Amino acid sequence: MFGEINRLLKELQQGRISRRGFIRYATLLGLSLGAAEALAACAPSPTPKTTAIAGPTETATLIPSYIAGEDAEVPTPEWEPTPLPPMTPTPTATRLKATPTPVMWEPAMWACPSCAERFSTQEELVKHILAQHARKIPGARRVDKPTYAPYLTDKVARFDQRNTVFSRVMWDKDYQEQISKVTLRQRRETPEEMIKGRALVAGAIYVDDAVGSLVPNYRGYSGHVRGYGGLYDWDDAVSPERLPVEDTSAMAEHIKAVARFYGADLVGICAINPLWVYSHYYDRETGAYGELEIPYKYAIVMGLEMDFASIRKSPGFPASAATALIYSKMAEVSSKLAKYIRALGYEAVPSGNDTTQNIPLAIDAGLGEIGRLGLLLTPEFGPRQRLCKVLTNLPLATDKPIDFGMQRFCETCLFCAHACPAKAIPFGERSLEQTSISNRPGILRWTVNVGNCYLFWRSNGGTDCSNCIAACPWAQQNRPWL
Ligand code: SF4
Ligand code: SF4
Repeated sequence: MFGEINRLLKELQQGRISRRGFIRYATLLGLSLGAAEALAACAPSPTPKTTAIAGPTETATLIPSYIAGEDAEVPTPEWEPTPLPPMTPTPTATRLKATPTPVMWEPAMWACPSCAERFSTQEELVKHILAQHARKIPGARRVDKPTYAPYLTDKVARFDQRNTVFSRVMWDKDYQEQISKVTLRQRRETPEEMIKGRALVAGAIYVDDAVGSLVPNYRGYSGHVRGYGGLYDWDDAVSPERLPVEDTSAMAEHIKAVARFYGADLVGICAINPLWVYSHYYDRETGAYGELEIPYKYAIVMGLEMDFASIRKSPGFPASAATALIYSKMAEVSSKLAKYIRALGYEAVPSGNDTTQNIPLAIDAGLGEIGRLGLLLTPEFGPRQRLCKVLTNLPLATDKPIDFGMQRFCETCLFCAHACPAKAIPFGERSLEQTSISNRPGILRWTVNVGNCYLFWRSNGGTDCSNCIAACPWAQQNRPWL
């Protein structure tokens, strides 16, 4: 066996086997040698002669002569070692057990800041924004008097909230009878679409419905109901620590920024003209009725944009949901701003459609002008917004009204009148006509037959109508015609 090791050594020196091959075979031979010695140790043997190494003894037979110092020939093994295959390095890829799937990153995308739609190039994004979101705004000039001023007569007086069409639904027997005769129009939606549509509206009005007022039968849309708390609560505490206001212009700008932070799209400030405060309040939910005085000096009037794509689907559930959603937002935004002002140490009351008429206040605050369809038109959204406000004594600089030409524009544009299914919008000139007690007397204007308008809503079977808003060229998303 030692001879075998010697032979392997020679082969290694001559380069006939590799070092690796040598170590492998030598290890095998070493194991064989160990086994042989173990067998020999276990076998019955005569007393070993420790000096026998110099002579032939049984022990010596276990030791090759060349180990024992004899110059003997190394025995040739009975087998030839198989040459080892050459050492070829394993390629890296095959050495790895699991090759991970490479992560394929998407190319850089451009996201629209308005609707979050994604585009692969900046050019596509710009094209999309210009087509879908950019809107042309006309030049508007600040004026000392609101553009409705020339049309007020000395007959104009404060209006009673009980005479609004929504209040009359609750108490006016004649009007109730008209409502009872309304025939429901045939709807085009499938039963599944009806279920989804109603659900869409229910979700949209949910905030106002649930917490706008905490009166048990409140269903949203009304705004303040006296003495029941909720977002439109008048009785929330005012902080005893009052922030001093030295610069009313700076405070006005600050309050507008806060209002936008809370979600308002448009903000203006005006002194409250008592002419626009309801002479009496009327709670639809409770039937409570009484005289109304507002002990506050300023109104922070806010416009909240309604979704264009949904309003275009009027009269239908998407348009109703767009309206309802803004009623929820009105309750949220106005109550948050009122809370902020109370925390500054000043009285503030959040208000939706209650307390005052919103359109003349918004005109006084410089948000826009009245249009033929009887709603506020703003340079930004036309009639496609809803209004809410906060009434407060926080000292604020007020805004001037604006004129962007709508009194002349509406004289020739009749789109809303053509679009009205109830024929409630007049085609003719301004007049002092009253179609019902729901029209305020003493104002020369295009008088909308609000009674007929609401009857159409009722015939619509659960959805209101925004046809006139959708038809107005100023309500369009972008205005290539401008
Ligand atoms: S809401 Fe509809 S029914 Fe009422 S005025 Fe506008 S278009 Fe006519
Ligand atoms: S549709 Fe025409 S007429 Fe009617 S409010 Fe708009 S701009 Fe005025």
